[in-house]
Amino acid sequence: MQNKREILMDLKKYNINIKKKYGQNFLIDQNILSKIVDTAELDSTIAVIEIGGGVGSLTDKLCQKAGYVLCYEIDSELIPILRQNLKEYSNYEIINQDILKVDIQQEIKDKLSSFSKIYVVANLPYYITTPILLNLLEKTDRIQRYILMMQEEVAERICGIPKTKEYNALSIAVQYRCKATKEFKVGRNVFLPEPNVDSAVVKLELYREKKYMVEDETSFFGFVRQCFSQRRKTLVNNLCKEYDKTIISEALIQNGLSLDIRSEELSIEEFIKIFEYITK
Ligand code: SAM
Repeated sequence: MQNKREILMDLKKYNINIKKKYGQNFLIDQNILSKIVDTAELDSTIAVIEIGGGVGSLTDKLCQKAGYVLCYEIDSELIPILRQNLKEYSNYEIINQDILKVDIQQEIKDKLSSFSKIYVVANLPYYITTPILLNLLEKTDRIQRYILMMQEEVAERICGIPKTKEYNALSIAVQYRCKATKEFKVGRNVFLPEPNVDSAVVKLELYREKKYMVEDETSFFGFVRQCFSQRRKTLVNNLCKEYDKTIISEALIQNGLSLDIRSEELSIEEFIKIFEYITK
């Protein structure tokens, strides 16, 4: 278990500089680390995937509570520190790889098939929060829960609800598959080095039975991004470059929606109905 001084000593001992390009902001507050792990509600029947092990502060606590920890870390220089700091455990594997290049479905099959419950718990590298999350959600339905630390602004978008300024295409891409809740806010002073934004921990619970059904999900998410392409414009004006204006208007009228409605006013169900009407 490491505090700020120990992490700095480790980095010095291994002659390593903290790399901004990898979003390296290490958590140095034991209470926040414990709070993240408590939010995950782990036990020995659960396998955890951690993205970005860093120097192992969170990995240490995950190894104590979970059955197994599969930890991805892109920075090969950190691997010896990670191994050193986890030497008292045997229920983990460190993989020195870019998580965006991992075939996660195959990895789960190869390494975690004996676990029925798989969670992701991570203090994410903020520069790639969205691609990491969307990639995992799209590639596998084997992960039932995500406990993720991220930039607060992104957390608010992910959990955004209709008629708020936070609600956007990312809210829909995530909430189409998961129940999303912002669990708690985290100040910038608990990181080394301090980032210039505040953070928050988000919990995502994958719906066991799909809550929403769209046949062509890729086209649907593209359609939603188009709907939000210019926030000041109405839904019709955002869509009319791609689709026939008469059909868009018909779709809105059929669904009891006003012709000058803006995208942030529509629920996920309404987006689905409009999409299906326009593309049928
Ligand atoms: N878990 C540690 C903690 O809480 O202190 C470190 C968190 S730090 C915000 C993010 C970590 O993700 C860094 O260790 C960084 O090197 C790693 N990382 C960055 N990009 C990555 C990628 N594409 N794949 C895997 N790990 C990555």
